[in-house]
Amino acid sequence: MISSDMSQANVPSTSQSNPTYGRAYFRNKALDQYPNLYREFSSKKFDYYGITDETPCPLCKLDHDDEEGIEGRYEARSYFIKCEQREIEIVA
Ligand SMILES: [Zn+2]
Repeated sequence: MISSDMSQANVPSTSQSNPTYGRAYFRNKALDQYPNLYREFSSKKFDYYGITDETPCPLCKLDHDDEEGIEGRYEARSYFIKCEQREIEIVA
């Protein structure tokens, strides 16, 4: 006999219960906070941002090579964006 415990089916759907602060929310918030950024594309785990031309990096204020770009990551209801110099948390 296989003991079928309910632990897997029992996980509360917290990530679904508060869509206001989901990944899309933070993404918009980040773009709102840093108007010089635009979203390039997203992978399963990360969002990638570019910097609109001729402006220094809005995160670290340095004029670094934009080939690196900005990376956003949603994790446990927090959202972080980082460039090669700095990481900043976007607060809800
Ligand atoms: Zn930077």
